[in-house]
Amino acid sequence: MYSVGNVGWIEADAPACGPLDALVRPTIVAPCTSDTHMSHGGSGPKENLILGHEAVGVVTQVGEQVTNFKPGDYVVVPCCTPDWLAPGVQNTVSFSHDLGLMQSFKFLGCKHGVFAELFHVNQADANMVKLPNGVSPEAALMTVDMMSTGFHGVELANIGFGDTVAVIGIGPVGLMAVAGAALRGAGRIIAVGTRPNCVKIAREYGATDIVSYKDGDIAAQIIALTGGGVDKTIIAGGNAETFAQAIAMTREMGTIANVNFFDVTETLAFPAYLWGLGMANKDIRGGFCPGGAKRIEKLLALIAAGRIDTTKLITHSFRGFDKIADAFALMDSKAQDLIKPIVYCDDLA
Ligand code: NDP
Ligand code: ZN
Repeated sequence: MYSVGNVGWIEADAPACGPLDALVRPTIVAPCTSDTHMSHGGSGPKENLILGHEAVGVVTQVGEQVTNFKPGDYVVVPCCTPDWLAPGVQNTVSFSHDLGLMQSFKFLGCKHGVFAELFHVNQADANMVKLPNGVSPEAALMTVDMMSTGFHGVELANIGFGDTVAVIGIGPVGLMAVAGAALRGAGRIIAVGTRPNCVKIAREYGATDIVSYKDGDIAAQIIALTGGGVDKTIIAGGNAETFAQAIAMTREMGTIANVNFFDVTETLAFPAYLWGLGMANKDIRGGFCPGGAKRIEKLLALIAAGRIDTTKLITHSFRGFDKIADAFALMDSKAQDLIKPIVYCDDLA
């Protein structure tokens, strides 16, 4: 990213490896909505930044205090790599906000990302996982952001047995939220989206009903479908208007859990009656992708046990490091049949 709206290749110095850190050569990377959102200035202006935060790869160097890894290890790298010494972690408020809002998102946040021949991982022992037996690199790549974020929506919504759940948005994040809700024992799962392959996979992951925002107000549609609204709503797509709809479609005592990035220019507003004039005991929550080794290890365990197939998200694959530019452009254009593109960087070996 040269500047807002301008992307291309840049030459950068190889990162330095601190005593607790590692350098990794990516083997497979995936562009994300968050990369394209950032390239358009959705998180404010940035300049001369290497994008990318979803990668698996091979360790090329470790700092002298790293004990769990050595050069040559095949690793899965969470998109959020907290500073485990930071006050926000010691407080256990959220590992996502170690030194401040979303600051565990080091790639793009405070340093170059993973669309590079080499990238840096802080505190490697706490922020990387060796690729486990029985998990393909492609499946593992889908855990580092998509699964961790989608499942965080499920955690924030605190979905329990038999809950009626709405998942707004069935891009890769929302699809993971559908799958996570099903694993958590939801009853009816109503998914909102239109792209045909997303709809198909939403059903495969456990959606019982599909609603299209192109057919009118989704709150009215879901209230009519359920005879009054859902217990839990996860927002994984849409805009400021979606936020009000989510509150409207969620019953009193319910929870609205947001993992959608709203644009920096948006204002979130809703009529007070939707929140029972403040008396409805509806929880409104929002959160950022949890990172760190332990988190990703647990998600990988679900794949290893055969409970979820994350590779259903992968619709396009490219071969060659240079093809990152094509995959990024595809992500940016949001082709109808796209869920998640990946790029094999084998030519860097
Ligand atoms: P996609 O753009 O692939 O999917 C968005 C989904 O929302 C699609 O299903 C789309 O429908 C649907 N949608 C679009 N407009 C509306 C609307 N007006 N009302 C209802 N639904 C709508 O996004 P991703 O799955 O990649 O990411 C989802 C969000 O999560 C993004 O905002 C992303 O930035 C954010 N994110 C957040 C993270 C976190 O840590 N909190 C981490 C990673 C991503 P259709 O089928 O028609 O396209
Ligand atoms: Zn991402």
